[in-house]
Order: sequence, then C-alpha cells, then structure tokens
Amino acid sequence: MAECIFCKIANGELDSEILHSDDSAVAFNDINPQAPHHVLVIPREHIASVADVSRDDESLVGHLCGVAARLAEQLGFAEDGYRLVVNCGAHGGQAVDHLHVHLLGGRQLTWPPG
Ligand code: AMP
Ligand code: ZN
Repeated sequence: MAECIFCKIANGELDSEILHSDDSAVAFNDINPQAPHHVLVIPREHIASVADVSRDDESLVGHLCGVAARLAEQLGFAEDGYRLVVNCGAHGGQAVDHLHVHLLGGRQLTWPPG
C-alpha cells in the first residue's frame, strides 16, 4: 500500500524507533505514547485491520502477540504487567488502517478503557 504510513515504516521509507524487525513483523515506538512504554507491533504485510485477517494469517497475528510479550520482557516491565490493544474500525478508535498491536506498560493502566 503506497500511501500507508505503517507500510512505509516497515519498508524503511519513514523513520521510526524500531525495536524489533523480522521477516514478518516490525515493532517500533508509538509517536504519541500513552504510557511510559508504548510500542506498536505490525505485520510487514498490509492487512487493514483485525477484521481483515484471513485464516491463513491467524498464525501471523499470534506472532505479533509473541513479539509484544518478548519485548515486554526485554524492556523490563513484563513482571509488573502490561496491556495489548487492537483497535478496529471507527467505534474501536482505529486511526491507522494497517493492523497493529499496541503494547502498553510501565504504569498502572485503568479499566474500562474510554
Ligand atoms: P490506532 O488509533 O489504534 O489506529 O493507533 C494508531 C497509533 O499510531 C497511534 O497511537 C499513533 O500515535 C500512532 N502513530 C501514528 N503515526 C505514527 C508514526 N509515524 N510513528 C509511530 N506511531 C505513529
Ligand atoms: Zn500498510
């Protein structure tokens, strides 16, 4: 997707603070962090949202969660706990139409979300 900012981050056209990169996923710091640690984990492949995940992509979504959990360990806040969030569509508050898992940690998070 030529105009997708997260595709541009994944292919290096747009600068970001990359924390993890592999054949199928990239993780980078959110530009507008909502917690001391706020990382986005995305597939390299353009998938617009979790609503567009095919059966063949389900293991890829599991990989995104695994990458997030390992980053929480590496960044040192796994023991205290953290939250993974996937916003979908207008009511879900999705602003960027490239599937992403938010990894939030480093403070007590409240529930329910707004
Ligand atoms: P969502 O509302 O779930 O679609 O979240 C999109 C997230 O992308 C927001 O938390 C933004 O702060 C973040 N974001 C937007 N542009 C960039 C960028 N260029 N680099 C890093 N994060 C970004
Ligand atoms: Zn994209």
